[in-house]
Amino acid sequence: MDSSADWVSTPPSSRRHFLKTVSRGVGGAALASAAGPLAGQAAGRSRPSVGVALVGLGNYATGQLGPALRETSICELTGIVTGTPAKADTWTQKYDIPESNVYDYETFDQVADNPDIDVIYVVLPNGMHAEYTIRAAEAGKHVICEKPMATSVAECRSMIDACEKNDCKLSLGYRLQFTPHHQRVMKLGQDETFGSVTAMQNGFGFHIPDSATGQPHIQWRLNKEMAGGGALVDVGIYAIQAGRYVTGEEPVAVTAQEYTTRPDIFDEVDETVFFQLEFPGGARMNGSTSYNASFNRLYATTSDGWFELRPAYGYGGLQGRTHRGAMDLSNVNQQAQQMDAFGRCILDDRTSRVAGIEGLRDLQIIEAIYASIAAGGQRVEVPGGA
Ligand code: NDP
Repeated sequence: MDSSADWVSTPPSSRRHFLKTVSRGVGGAALASAAGPLAGQAAGRSRPSVGVALVGLGNYATGQLGPALRETSICELTGIVTGTPAKADTWTQKYDIPESNVYDYETFDQVADNPDIDVIYVVLPNGMHAEYTIRAAEAGKHVICEKPMATSVAECRSMIDACEKNDCKLSLGYRLQFTPHHQRVMKLGQDETFGSVTAMQNGFGFHIPDSATGQPHIQWRLNKEMAGGGALVDVGIYAIQAGRYVTGEEPVAVTAQEYTTRPDIFDEVDETVFFQLEFPGGARMNGSTSYNASFNRLYATTSDGWFELRPAYGYGGLQGRTHRGAMDLSNVNQQAQQMDAFGRCILDDRTSRVAGIEGLRDLQIIEAIYASIAAGGQRVEVPGGA
């Protein structure tokens, strides 16, 4: 649930929805160069715009993605897929979505015939990501899938294959890669601005109170089949991502340790994991993630200095500094930036910077971490590392 929608807020919408309304029935010449399916072309929108349908109207869709789609310049919310009729009523009114663009999980495949919908955004529990990404691709739609991409590397491969086979683009909900803060640390690390990165301490975790475990968005997170894992797959994945994009390298091996203070609650998924990543250039990363302890920091020490983001992973309020002083960077609407970037990829026929392969690599590392834990903390090589 990341930083969690409950305690990290996005700036309120400042633009009226009507500003985003596009007139239909006018030639969409600007879309003519787009490759793959682009239904907006058929809909004849008056300017390049990419219609997005959200699948699964839970916390993240309601608290972040719906509001962010009022802040996008290219993407617009044109459809919803939900199993809860009451949510459909609320969303159609709030976002002016026509009844003809509302689907449930049984009618989902009919999106194939809907020219208003270019992108399916899968915001379902992790265990449902693969099925709905594949069904979306088979319906001829581009896909954004939330993190973690799936519950196994094998699922990730089948999602990538389905999108390639159907000539659909696949992108992931890695919102932080679209922030000035994370783009700055990528550059500082990869350009070796302060010398090469020698070590990192990246941690993201928070406390789930016992009293919250009955809530629907927590319940599936405690279920191995639906979540694929615990804190590691939910929020630790951001620390892994950061290690990869700050060094610009793929880890070759991991060691890891897990412990739980509440075995009655965390009997299927991990509560707290500490893990160490070995990068081929010599850097090491200490990672931490938890559903019981608060971590929110990205720290890299280099041969000539250091840099950090703290807080590093929330929806807003990111702050950065180096050994020379504070980073002067603005916070942005992360989800709006992320969706618009994908919209531009579709219009310009480019691959997303957070394409499916990024999610697959993270899952390879996660599987290696779980393998190390199962082996009592032994060093496990990451397939495809280096
Ligand atoms: P929620 O539980 O709040 O929402 C999931 C929604 O999926 C439900 O509300 C429901 O919507 C639908 N759903 C369909 N079938 C099921 C089922 N069997 N059990 C539960 N829900 C079902 O989860 P979140 O919104 O917190 O998370 C959804 C996804 O988004 C996850 O993959 C998560 O990792 C990711 N996420 C990403 C974040 C980021 O910052 N990138 C932040 C938070 C979450 P309906 O009633 O409409 O059918």
